[in-house]
Amino acid sequence: MARKLAAGNWKMNGLKASLSEATALAEMFPAPKVDILLCPPATLVAAMAAALDGTKVDVGGQDCHPRSSGAHTGDISAEMLVDAGCDYVILGHSERRADHGESNALIAQKTIAATMAGLAPVVCVGETLDERESGKTLEVIRHQLSASLPDAVDFDKLVIAYEPVWAIGTGKIPTLAQIAEVHDDMRETLSARYGDDEAGKIPLLYGGSVKPGNAPEIFATSNVDGALVGGASLKAADFAGIVKAL
Ligand code: 13P
Repeated sequence: MARKLAAGNWKMNGLKASLSEATALAEMFPAPKVDILLCPPATLVAAMAAALDGTKVDVGGQDCHPRSSGAHTGDISAEMLVDAGCDYVILGHSERRADHGESNALIAQKTIAATMAGLAPVVCVGETLDERESGKTLEVIRHQLSASLPDAVDFDKLVIAYEPVWAIGTGKIPTLAQIAEVHDDMRETLSARYGDDEAGKIPLLYGGSVKPGNAPEIFATSNVDGALVGGASLKAADFAGIVKAL
């Protein structure tokens, strides 16, 4: 059985004052039954890790460079995220694929870098609306999984997030049958590559317009082990509703 994970992706949101939302969340869950993660923007990573030290809420970055150091202005390495107090890093989010032209091959290199540094990579995949409407969803997800994941991964750490691009920030979610179809297919694809035991350990998160109201039905869906939450992770009260549903 895969562990359960409620992950929040703050994206490019949050100033120092927002750390109070993170500490409020941690206070609500002193002994959570599931893993809880917040991924703030890079400017808040170290401060959030310090504020949440000793709590049950983990901190993650939203990206890392494939190299551990060097002349890469504006970038952050996996080692630096560890040094700042992170346990996780989101990789290959569709916004990075779109805004920064990130390829599957680059995401695989970043996944290796994160794994070597001891971080848990949260590797994101997801189809566009065009791809969904032309019946290519499973083909796209299978290709992204095969090309964005390296052969050597740490199965106790790797997390996959299925985020349909058209469901992100739109209030639209796929039907539960559509979510189940993709999650079941991802589990089969991972099993075929890594074996049933190892693939069974990988939490498969759903992301895209998850709210406290729709979280219970999404979490009751086949092979959904948690969520990667954007907008509803910014306020402790909203995110707490999602954590409780898991
Ligand atoms: P929303 O929850 O705001 O739709 O964002 C989902 C997402 O992209 C999380 O990574």
